[in-house]
Amino acid sequence: MITSLYIHIPFCKNICTYCDFPKVFSNTCSRKEYLEVLQYELKQKKITNKLKTIYIGGGTPSILNEDELDLLLSSLTPYLAPDYEFSIEANPDSLTERKIQILKKHKVNRVSLGVESTTKRKRKYLGRHHNNLDVISCVKSLYKAGIDNINLDFIYGCKKDNKAIINKDIALIKKLEVKHVSFYSLQIEENTLLGIKKEQTLSEEKQADLYFYINDKLKKLGFNHYEVSNWSKEGYESRHNLVYWNNNQYYGIGLGASSYEGNKRQTNTKSLTSYLKKDFKQVVEEQTKEDEEFNYIMLGLRKLEGINLKDFKSRFNKNFVLNYKNKIEKLKDYLNINLEYISIKEKYIFIMNSILLELLNFK
Ligand code: SF4
Repeated sequence: MITSLYIHIPFCKNICTYCDFPKVFSNTCSRKEYLEVLQYELKQKKITNKLKTIYIGGGTPSILNEDELDLLLSSLTPYLAPDYEFSIEANPDSLTERKIQILKKHKVNRVSLGVESTTKRKRKYLGRHHNNLDVISCVKSLYKAGIDNINLDFIYGCKKDNKAIINKDIALIKKLEVKHVSFYSLQIEENTLLGIKKEQTLSEEKQADLYFYINDKLKKLGFNHYEVSNWSKEGYESRHNLVYWNNNQYYGIGLGASSYEGNKRQTNTKSLTSYLKKDFKQVVEEQTKEDEEFNYIMLGLRKLEGINLKDFKSRFNKNFVLNYKNKIEKLKDYLNINLEYISIKEKYIFIMNSILLELLNFK
């Protein structure tokens, strides 16, 4: 039974210089039409069971006006299971007090704020238009409304990044006492504004240095490092994202949204014109048992706790340690293995991709 749903709201007021997500400039007309088609797609899914996690991502979901937000959320609350996590992404410059009240009214209990940096010059480089006061004011209003499960998203690895810049981010995290933090390394894709300008990130060595600096600082604040780019206070791990990392199935609706239902992974069209014509599907991949195992390992080892060996056995009817014996032997310095779990040692998690390549390519 699928108990998770992702909903994509692709609208943005400005386009960030690093952005590679499916998004379009926001305007009232296409928003209205889009939300109608979204409702149609949701009904098409014929979801009959309750959902444990719903995640509204973007784009910028908080760009919806109050009526639009009210309409969207009211169509989703009936799906919530009793013990639910209902998350929404928001930008600090579009999440108003009134919108927060609407979130609360419709049972949203987790908000992920795109902060990216507390340093003005870095925000400008990234094309972000809010300021630190916007962030502080949003977090205070969320607390006031009784929404205390708050994530702050940050980016590190820009060419001029250094520890002093990171220290300011950490100071804000400490001040606001949020429960969850994500730090993503800047990726410069060809089709983004930074890519077109041929901008470079920090060297891998300097990025790694900052990554472990961030990890150290966050741990000192009581955060648990539970996924390569994610830290949380105890009990505040993102339940929705854990569905992905545990390779569990989920529904996905909206422009460019992915879903994993039955043995199919599907990605919706990234063309708004096609989407509005209800021509949703773009890529459908049938998953073989081998694909499933590959994804399970690749995603599972992103988690610091790693792969649960019993769960692996029950899903694939084989013993992980025996089946990957040769690779494990070759990579033993990089791995932690006990009777229950296999994981990548934290000091090597930054080079996770090379370890996975080795593990998954040479049987
Ligand atoms: S990063 Fe987020 S807010 Fe910025 S353009 Fe992309 S989707 Fe929009």
